[in-house]
Amino acid sequence: MAIAQQLTSKQSLRPIPSTMLAAVYRGVKDIRVETVPVPQIGPGEILIQVHTCGICGTDLKKIATGSHSAPRIFGHETSGTVAAVGENVTKFIPGDRVMVFHHIPCGHCFYCKAKTFAQCETYKKVGCTAGFEPSGGGFAEYVRVMDWIVERGTVRIPDETSFEQASFVEPINTCIKGIERMAIQPGETVLTIGQGPIGIMLSILAKRAGARVITSDLYRARLTIAEAFGLDNSIDASKADPVQEARRQTEGRGVDAAILAVGANGLIRTAMDAVRPGGRVLLFAQTQHGEAPFDPAAVCMNEKTLLGSYSASIDLQDESVRFVMGREMALEKLISHRFPLEKAVEALDLAAHPQPDSMKIVIQPSQEGKQ
Ligand SMILES: [Zn+2]
Ligand SMILES: [Zn+2]
Repeated sequence: MAIAQQLTSKQSLRPIPSTMLAAVYRGVKDIRVETVPVPQIGPGEILIQVHTCGICGTDLKKIATGSHSAPRIFGHETSGTVAAVGENVTKFIPGDRVMVFHHIPCGHCFYCKAKTFAQCETYKKVGCTAGFEPSGGGFAEYVRVMDWIVERGTVRIPDETSFEQASFVEPINTCIKGIERMAIQPGETVLTIGQGPIGIMLSILAKRAGARVITSDLYRARLTIAEAFGLDNSIDASKADPVQEARRQTEGRGVDAAILAVGANGLIRTAMDAVRPGGRVLLFAQTQHGEAPFDPAAVCMNEKTLLGSYSASIDLQDESVRFVMGREMALEKLISHRFPLEKAVEALDLAAHPQPDSMKIVIQPSQEGKQ
């Protein structure tokens, strides 16, 4: 299933057909690969032939919980080639390699000025669609990009950067935002619990902020991948207790900050126990509402802080583009599985049930050599 080597610098443009394949969300836990019309574009819009679209945890959550009406076509970590441009588009021409954001705030309303971008009416509108209610559309062969996204949310990919690498701009943005929330100081020690692709990205970014990083995971295979990214201070949580190990490495105090990059709520307590008094814990994967146990005295008496971070920030768009396009981290190496669109159901299923050796999973509608 994994294609050994992608032709990453080019993607041959084909004549635009009238229909295409797409992974259509039809209801709770119901994704079907269907033939749908290729979206029509209007003035100021562009059509992108999708090369790579990463599967995000939020896609899986929407599919599993039925939080959104059906039908929709999800997928928002999209990179590809401009296939057609509408009237008045001057920034792009067919053949340009690009990545697109799916949400962009207007930049001048009350909420934008207050920097609470998520409340901006323009931000709430999704600006990319492969048909139906706009929902990203990256799990399709073609995506229509609406005018405000063409203007402010479409980024050219440098020649030396692959489509796969470029598809990480949005997830990297969310991780940079999480790291900023923790206000890491150089020289601090940070423990990252969970070394899936997001945990590895957060660890690298914590290191970039000047921290000494300790990683932990139950799966040896994941720690080995993290080590390949230079994260060599790891705890095999199947053998050692991360709390004791974190204390052992910090003169018994505990780490300055811990990042929880796995959804298991039982680990909130572990993360809080691993930080020193006055330390902080970032919840990055707790996207399900409910209740979770924690020690209230750890917050009150030991003055530990529980923080959260979710979604991307427009303020970090330039930094995330520079980080990804400038290849500060070889993100494409986080991709363990590449699926053609025909196997989208299998791809989403694997992403929803991660295995020790499954990391980032992407869908590639126009795999070279498959067409
Ligand atoms: Zn996402
Ligand atoms: Zn606004």
